Amino acid sequence: MPIILKSARELGLIRQACELVVEVLDQLACKAAPGVTTAELDALAAELTRRAGAQPLFTGVPNPHGKAAFPAAICASRNNVLVHGIPDEKPLLDGDILSIDFGVRLDGYCGDAAITLMIGNVSPQAKRLVQTTRDVLKLAVENCHPHRRWFEVAEIMDSFVKKAGFTIVQDFVGHGIGLDMHEDPRVPNFVDPNGGDFVLEPGLVIAIEPMVNAGSKKVKTLNDGWTVRTADSKFCAHFEHTVAITEDGPEVLTPVRCLSEIC
Ligand code: MG
Repeated sequence: MPIILKSARELGLIRQACELVVEVLDQLACKAAPGVTTAELDALAAELTRRAGAQPLFTGVPNPHGKAAFPAAICASRNNVLVHGIPDEKPLLDGDILSIDFGVRLDGYCGDAAITLMIGNVSPQAKRLVQTTRDVLKLAVENCHPHRRWFEVAEIMDSFVKKAGFTIVQDFVGHGIGLDMHEDPRVPNFVDPNGGDFVLEPGLVIAIEPMVNAGSKKVKTLNDGWTVRTADSKFCAHFEHTVAITEDGPEVLTPVRCLSEIC
């Protein structure tokens, strides 16, 4: 599929969808604490989305391995689960890290973002992993100058993570976003020898989503067809922003407040 550049009107609609994503993620971040379950966080996300007249993006997404469709509004991925974790009734524990990926469709247009929260007191190593993942996303966005090639940004991301002693996951990548949740281009967080480079043209809207492992970059999908965890069971983290490329530079459409740790 060709890359679809967005008009000012479309960008406005995506911005509104993203504002709702931010509102919901901020509320989930403030609620997440030891003893709270990810099913409770999911129910809150679904309710806030419904009240805003929007639809959760991930509910009912068909499974690529022929298993059941995704059953929840949020992906709740804890500790060694990287992405696509299914919310459950297990209470969060002090020392957990929890990635919440969440998206909505509002008036036809999509917004998508992910954060990794530190629950209670996490280990210094887990904290450094979460901060590195958050920082590499920030670094990527800052480097999204219009007309630049994406691979220059991907190279910066990969070397930043390597220097921190962690690994960038290669099995999952970011994506274009607009009328569809996943549009072209693919947005790899590394220089992919199989291709995937593109020009950051004004009008482009992409979801940039670095996934960083504490150990090996290898991941595996569990039998439910969704849950992706690290092959070595070490911790992992995930942050994501929907970003618009404009002539004036990048615009983060999902400026989640809890990322600056106000909660
Ligand atoms: Mg995404």
